[in-house]
Amino acid sequence: MIEEGKQIKTNVYIRKNNTKEIRKIEMNLYGFDSDTCPETWIWEEGNYSCDCNREIFFERAAGFEVEEVECSHFKYSIKLEDPKTGNIFYNEFDEEI
Ligand SMILES: [Zn+2]
Repeated sequence: MIEEGKQIKTNVYIRKNNTKEIRKIEMNLYGFDSDTCPETWIWEEGNYSCDCNREIFFERAAGFEVEEVECSHFKYSIKLEDPKTGNIFYNEFDEEI
C-alpha cells in the first residue's frame, strides 16, 4: 500500500561545478521512514540525479525557466539541508568531480 507521503521542507543547494556558483531553492520532498528526513534516493539514483533536472532547479532558483536541457552527470552537485536545524540530509559538495 502506498501511503500519501509526508512532505518535508528542505533547502536544496545546487552548485554549478564549472563556475562553483551555488544557488538555493526550497523544495518539499517526500519523507523516508520518518517525518524528519527526506528521501535521498531520488538524488542519488533517481530523476534528480540527472543534470537535466538539476539545471532546471538551478535556473529556477534565479527565477529563470530553461526550455532545453541535456542529460548528463557531474555538472551539478547537490546539498540538502534542514531549514529548521541546519542539519545536512545529503551532501555531494565534498565529492571529487
Ligand atoms: Zn536527464
